[in-house]
Amino acid sequence: RPGTSFEDITAHCIRCGMAPEVEEGEFLEYVNKLIKDRGNAKSVCEMVNGRYICFNHQPISDGGWVSTHEDVTERQLNAARIKYLSRHDALTDLPNRTYFGEEMERAESQVRRGEKLALLCIDLDKFKVINDTYGHGIGDEVLRQVALRLKAGKRDHEIVARMGGDEFMLLVGPVNSAQSVARIAQRILHDLGKPLLADGHEFLIGTSIGIAMAPEDAEDGATLMKHADMALYRAKGEGRRSYRFFKKGMDAAIRQRHKLGVDLRKALGQGQFKLVYRPVLELASNRVSCCEAKLRWQHPERGMLLPGQFMTIAEETGFIPRLSAWALGAACEAARDWPKGVRVALKLSASQITCPRAVENIASVLKATGFDPGRLELEVSEETLSRKTKTKL
Ligand code: GH3
Ligand code: MG
Repeated sequence: RPGTSFEDITAHCIRCGMAPEVEEGEFLEYVNKLIKDRGNAKSVCEMVNGRYICFNHQPISDGGWVSTHEDVTERQLNAARIKYLSRHDALTDLPNRTYFGEEMERAESQVRRGEKLALLCIDLDKFKVINDTYGHGIGDEVLRQVALRLKAGKRDHEIVARMGGDEFMLLVGPVNSAQSVARIAQRILHDLGKPLLADGHEFLIGTSIGIAMAPEDAEDGATLMKHADMALYRAKGEGRRSYRFFKKGMDAAIRQRHKLGVDLRKALGQGQFKLVYRPVLELASNRVSCCEAKLRWQHPERGMLLPGQFMTIAEETGFIPRLSAWALGAACEAARDWPKGVRVALKLSASQITCPRAVENIASVLKATGFDPGRLELEVSEETLSRKTKTKL
């Protein structure tokens, strides 16, 4: 109403909850100073009743002033929601990589102050099989439940984030010793290993964990994350369902492996593979009845490599089908000129058997080389067979 004093309006606003959470006197003092100094002010304040008001105070030429009050609650809440979404993972509602990156920066300053921290990189084992077998919807539900278990198992101030796919990171600290971190890792393996129900199906999830400690393994967040990831790679490579601590030298070993993968892609085109043969002596006739073909890689820098030194990396890089096809062709070609009674034996890889065109592929090599099928012996190892069965399951 005209004539109402500024103090009365303010008191009314405070009664309605339409004022920021400050003392009435303090608020009046602020506004009176603004008027007296003929200053400009624009700010968004959260009111006691939860609404957001944008105040715009401007002096005018005749000595008075105009103050506009705009309710920007919806805009403010949307902005807050957008900020939340940009820092959280939509599927699990856990902090995402961006948020975790900010936390790692904070952790760096804790480490500089002398605290000991541990970073655990957690990745589910063979999670793709769940997606492939039961569909993405069930895969998503499994990820949600894993996130819940990780959240429930951590202490309040610790942060767990979903970094993408089936990979999570947990930052713990302050920690006293590697043993206490090992106990945390064991507890996570145990928690995630308990049966999990998704859409009526029961799952037993295996998990691998890589651990890096600050300041021992690295002081900056990026290197710590890289080292935890390397330790995870080691845990995966050494049978999964376990945890590994980062150790110096792991990075060199991984770089070497990576280089081997790159070299492998060039090796076939450059004729670096060869077959050597182990004769099998038939005791009854005392003659060589068969020769087993064994693969060797004449690496330009590392010398002659045995399959055990490169098959895992060949498998990881999806190189086995091409390599196996080459070996079959080369063995048939070589054995074509051997005495008629000598067979050639070759191990079949899992991918050669699971390939839907397995028989056609072998038949086409036989046709191309003109090799007598009766002289070709194909070995299927027990391990290959059991892997095939697992894939089918
Ligand atoms: P490994 O034991 O080596 O970890 O094998 P893995 O099968 O778990 O494979 P990896 O960790 O490399 O890949 C994770 C898979 O997770 C790849 C992708 O198919 C799947 N994935 C990634 N994001 C999502 C998602 O949001 N939902 C679902 N359902 N699956 C996802
Ligand atoms: Mg995985």
